[in-house]
This record gives sequence, C-alpha cells and structure tokens, in this order.
Amino acid sequence: MSSREFRHDQEAIIAEQVRTDRLHQLFRQSMPAVFGSYLAACMLCWLCWDRFQHPVIFGWMLLLTASTAIRVALFIVYFRAPEVERTPQRWELKYWKSLIVSAVIWGGGALVAMPSGDLLAQTIIVLFTVGMSVSAVSCYSAYRNMTLVSVGLVLLPSSLWLLFQPLAMQVGIALATLVFASFVVRFTRKHSDALEAAFRLTREMERAHSISTYAAQTDELTGLKNRRAFFERAQQLFKYAERNRISLCAVMLDMDHFKQINDTYGHQVGDEVLRQMGRVISTVFREADVCGRLGGEEFAVLLPDTTIEMALSIAERLIKAMSALRPGPVESMTASLGIACSAGNSGDLHNLINAADKALYRAKALGRNQVVVAE
Ligand code: GH3
Ligand code: MG
Ligand code: MG
Repeated sequence: MSSREFRHDQEAIIAEQVRTDRLHQLFRQSMPAVFGSYLAACMLCWLCWDRFQHPVIFGWMLLLTASTAIRVALFIVYFRAPEVERTPQRWELKYWKSLIVSAVIWGGGALVAMPSGDLLAQTIIVLFTVGMSVSAVSCYSAYRNMTLVSVGLVLLPSSLWLLFQPLAMQVGIALATLVFASFVVRFTRKHSDALEAAFRLTREMERAHSISTYAAQTDELTGLKNRRAFFERAQQLFKYAERNRISLCAVMLDMDHFKQINDTYGHQVGDEVLRQMGRVISTVFREADVCGRLGGEEFAVLLPDTTIEMALSIAERLIKAMSALRPGPVESMTASLGIACSAGNSGDLHNLINAADKALYRAKALGRNQVVVAE
C-alpha cells in the first residue's frame, strides 16, 4: 500500500469514527427531548384547556403519545444493543424518521390547535414552539441538519400562519420568531463545526498515540516485540504464572552463523532472513505466548501453561518451519534453541531466561541446529 493510499485509508477510518461519535452524542444528548417535548405538549394543553377545542387536544395528545412511545422504544433498543451494532448505518435513518414524525406531529398539532380569535393562546403557542426550538438546539447539536429540520417543523407552521394574520401584533410576533430562528441557523453551523473538530482531534490523538505506542514496543524488522516490550510483558506473565501456579517455559533462539549470511550475501539479505524469521515465529507460537527479538539474530519466547514436552515439540516445529525458508539466495539457515521451564515457583524471570540461555549455548557447543533443554 502506498503512503498516499494509507493516509486516505486512515482518513476514512477517522471520518467513520467521528460519525459514530456524533451518533452516540446524539442519543446521549437527546434523551431528555423525547420526554421534554411530550411534557411541553401536556403543559400547553393544560394552560390553554379552556381555549383549545377538546377533540383537537385529544387527537394531538394521542398521536404524541404514540410517537413518544416509538422514540422511547428506539432509545431502549439502541442502548441495549452491543457497541459494535451502534453504527450510523443502522441508526441514523431510524432516528431521522422518528424525529421527523414527532416534529411534524408537534408543529402540525400546534397549528391545528391555534384558536383564530385568541391572541393570548396564539402567543402562548408560539412561546412553546420557541422553547421547543431552543431545546432542539441543545439536544440535536451533534447533527446540524436534525436541529434545523426539527426547528423548522415545530416553529414554522405557527409562525408562518401568524405572519399572514391581520393584526400588527401577530405579524410582529411571527417576525420576531423568524429573526430568532435565523440566529439559531447561524449558531448551529459554528457549533456543529466546533463539535466535529473536537471529535476529529480526539480520534486523531488516539490514533497517533496508538501508533507511537506500537512503534515504541515493536521491532521494526520482524514485527515482534522489541527487547524492552518483551521484558515488560514477560515480567507480567511471569508474575501471573507464579500467582496462579501455572508452569512457564522460556525458549531462547539464536541463528547459526548469521554473520556468514551477512558477509556472503550482504546486510539486506540478512535483514530479509530476520524478517522471515519474525513471520515464522509469529505463526509457530500461540496467541498467548510472548515473542520478542532481544537483539541481532537472537529471539526469546515465553510460553505460559506449557510443559517441557510441549515446548520441545513447538521448538522442533519451529526448526522444521525454518528449514523450509528460502530467503533470496540463502540456501539454508538454521538456529540453535535453548529451553527452560519453571513449575510456577522459580522466583525470578531472569533466572528462567538465563537457564534457557545456558541451554542455548550448550546447543551451539553441541554443533548447532538443535534444541537443548536446561537441566
Ligand atoms: P553463531 O552461530 O555462533 O551464533 O554465529 P553468528 O554468526 O550467528 O553470531 P555472531 O554473534 O558472531 O553474529 C551475529 C551477527 O548478526 C553479527 C551482526 O552483523 C548481525 N546482525 C545483528 N543485527 C542485525 C540486523 O539487524 N541485520 C542484519 N542483517 N544483521 C544483523
Ligand atoms: Mg548467531
Ligand atoms: Mg547472537
């Protein structure tokens, strides 16, 4: 993959994460809106009980009850869903539909309930739609378009109706409301940009942190843990094994006559050999094993919950896998291995590693290309 493709990929990943963050924010923030809008409608009906037509109120509240129930169900299903299923692809459209239905019912109901000859009731209704719009700004800010659509659907029907009424006061109220709405539109753009930037920055920092952590712990050539990371993780594993009385084996590996490979074929071929060794080690050992390159052509592996016999058979499998490698012009390559095991009571990680190291040097002394188990 070229660096441009990689960058493009990373940007796409971050964009998707930001979209998911916005969805989470939307659900977290808008929970109060579901109940708030229902309560606001109840309050409005109570305040204007004698001014509204009762069949209209009942029909409106019935529809609002149904749409609120749907939204509550949507929230319950969302918050119960596992994290991986809370994706924008699954939820955004559902949310949009439920929001539009409830905003249409609210805004439409307010218009239908509007008594034509009652200025006080009209003012109270507009006051409530303005209040609903303010709530929409605070609840749907993660999605600017949702804020605008819900403000539009709730606020505009009654305001536009008032705008075309004969009294100057009615027109004045409508105009004031529309001016207010224009400020909302301006504010939501800035707020939404700021929110997007905050989410993006957080994700980029997380990504940079994980890349730098990985780089600080990984040997560039082989992809295995570097010396420091190996000992850090090995120490944790050693303590865990001791606490739980689990046996632990250490395998030390040193390539045979590696200097000759460098001298004969050059350093780049030597590097390729190490790269292939890294791949073989990663495939032969198990997920729970801790593998590292300690330096040069020397590797170490810690195997938890493993008997000497199991470690020996894994080491022999490794030797076999190595013998099948053909890195460029190198015809054959071998390694010597030393194994030492603790039965969960040997006190010190370095004792265990040293014992495996001694076994490794015995393997060298015995003619290389073999595995020796510590006494
Ligand atoms: P022995 O069988 O006794 O282990 O012999 P050897 O030649 O493998 O051992 P020695 O320690 O003498 O040589 C190790 C060589 O590994 C020397 C060094 O140039 C080479 N080496 C160390 N790190 C790297 C590396 O990152 N890349 C390459 N290509 N060579 C490296
Ligand atoms: Mg060597
Ligand atoms: Mg060496």
